[in-house]
Amino acid sequence: MSITDVRIPAIDPSVDRTIQLVTAGAGAGSTCTPELAAGPWNFDGAPGYGPGSSMGDVIPVGSPRQGELPRAYRDATAEELDERIRTAKATLGDRVVILGHFYQREEVVRHADFVGDSFQLAGAATSRPDAEAIVFCGVHFMAETADLLSTNEQAVILPNLAAGCSMADMADIDSVQECWEQLEELYGTAPDADGRVPVIPVTYMNSSAALKGFCGEHGGIVCTSSNAETVLEWAFERGQRVLFFPDQHLGRNTAKAMGVPLDRMPMWNPRRPLGGSSSDDLTDAQVILWHGFCSVHRRFTVEQIDRARAEHPGVRVIVHPECPMEVVDAADEYGSTDYITKAIAAAPAGTTFAIGTEVNLVQRLAAQYPQHTVFCLDPVICPCSTMYRIHPGYLAWVLERLVAGEVVNQISVGADVADPARVALERMLAAVPPVAPRGAHPEA
Ligand code: SF4
Repeated sequence: MSITDVRIPAIDPSVDRTIQLVTAGAGAGSTCTPELAAGPWNFDGAPGYGPGSSMGDVIPVGSPRQGELPRAYRDATAEELDERIRTAKATLGDRVVILGHFYQREEVVRHADFVGDSFQLAGAATSRPDAEAIVFCGVHFMAETADLLSTNEQAVILPNLAAGCSMADMADIDSVQECWEQLEELYGTAPDADGRVPVIPVTYMNSSAALKGFCGEHGGIVCTSSNAETVLEWAFERGQRVLFFPDQHLGRNTAKAMGVPLDRMPMWNPRRPLGGSSSDDLTDAQVILWHGFCSVHRRFTVEQIDRARAEHPGVRVIVHPECPMEVVDAADEYGSTDYITKAIAAAPAGTTFAIGTEVNLVQRLAAQYPQHTVFCLDPVICPCSTMYRIHPGYLAWVLERLVAGEVVNQISVGADVADPARVALERMLAAVPPVAPRGAHPEA
């Protein structure tokens, strides 16, 4: 498994600094909200995902809230926090490993021992079994996955408990169980003549441990944006159809690329009887798509691609498969963050890229590869609001508490969920990939 090297770029990659400049009226461009320039402790008290791309999404009742951070951290300058993090990390040495997701702000990522996507980082955690603590600078479901894959002696820490994921929260275990009961009533449970069961549940990595556990218990499997096609092939060998949650776009884009017709992919809206589809449509279905989406990737549009092509003739447009289907269809290529990163790294110098994924990663790639022109398709600076909750103040706090011998903000998954969730993850790891990795459109 490859993890992106932590490099010191020649160009300033800080989205946060750009936002501060824009909101102060001193920088070019625009942000989705001026609240982005405030510290997360200014909005942690209210239920919501915080300012950023998912601020309009409805947060589930009972979502964790972060307690107030001590004043010393809230009042510290960026330089002071940076120094406190460095000092605490040096004091802890090998006792701690810090993981930074691609979508984290630069001021956090620079302290990470490993930088990558959620699954790469969970794997990285397993590479350091002697570390007492794994500090996961990402969102809640990622910390849960790290807890599933780490040893019992290791503590996984999420610096800000309010860092959830609005997409993961769109499929909760109760709604999925209710859906499953309705599907069982419709399809029965008997396998067909080929031994394939009526339906296989497939959950995207971006989901709660409870849903991974559900898949483990019901013959299902987990997928990532890198291996979704491999996983769907695995599922079609064992089931007549797939229930895919929570991201409709990853499910639709992947199944469409495999030749599944759109009219055999009905949507399941958990707020409607039979998900809002007819029993005929569900009977004929090959993939039932949960009504979930990522508010970051939903921002990308075909108009943005058209504008990029008009302004930058020859531009290479790559988007993430969490983008809507028409955006993926209009792009030159699509793929996971790992795919995007590798494509830019491998391109001949002087290539121009328009990228459809979270702005922190795009801006960092632009800084890391100054031989290319790399820009975000969305001209408005609007980071993932939940990732944005991991401010350096929280990182400094959890590290200094560790130095003092205290574990705060530990994420731990109970054995009743962890055991079946590991089964679903192990099925994914054992699934055999297709002959050629997907990414580019066939004609590209
Ligand atoms: S980018 Fe989308 S899927 Fe990823 S953490 Fe943010 S809301 Fe969730």
